[in-house]
Amino acid sequence: MESMAQCTRCGLAEIRTQVVIGRGSETARVMFTGEAPGKEEDRTGMGFQGSAGKIFEDVLSYLGLTRGEIWLNNVVRCRPTDTGKKNRPPRGEELDACRPWMLEDIGRVRPAIIVTLGRMAFESLTGETDFQGCRGRLYKASDPSIPEIFPLAHPAYLIYRRSSMPQYREDLDRLHQALAARGVVSNPVVPKRFL
Ligand code: SF4
Repeated sequence: MESMAQCTRCGLAEIRTQVVIGRGSETARVMFTGEAPGKEEDRTGMGFQGSAGKIFEDVLSYLGLTRGEIWLNNVVRCRPTDTGKKNRPPRGEELDACRPWMLEDIGRVRPAIIVTLGRMAFESLTGETDFQGCRGRLYKASDPSIPEIFPLAHPAYLIYRRSSMPQYREDLDRLHQALAARGVVSNPVVPKRFL
């Protein structure tokens, strides 16, 4: 059987360093799903590194979670780039080619909630294009194999938009309520940068 780490279903296989596979707990009740690996993720094979990765860790900390308690993946598992220097958004054919790996993760881990990080991850999983209108509350996809989704802005969004922090915090508070209602988290520890 083909393994994800050797996947050649789309052209990104030719330019990646490695497939950035999902990581975390196989029994996680919450899955966090981003868009695609960047340069650092492609180099290390680990999801959410660098500045966005630091904010992501703060988001988890705010929710009272650690990387070891969640499942973390991307809708596209190889770095999209044309030049090798700049990342680019994944193309439709790359998203389509990688979707079976996403569905495999969902079927194996069986999370109660998927938190999508950024517009593209949300759109790719649901087909819903009104990210802003859906952001920050639970969303039920029409595909019955997809669990409840909670769309959040991508952590990288906050790097240059610190003024968006209050709104982001409100979204996180609603996410925390949803996770607590399903017994996924108890009390959050709020890091200073979010105060
Ligand atoms: S992006 Fe997905 S479909 Fe394309 S080669 Fe990588 S793992 Fe395979």
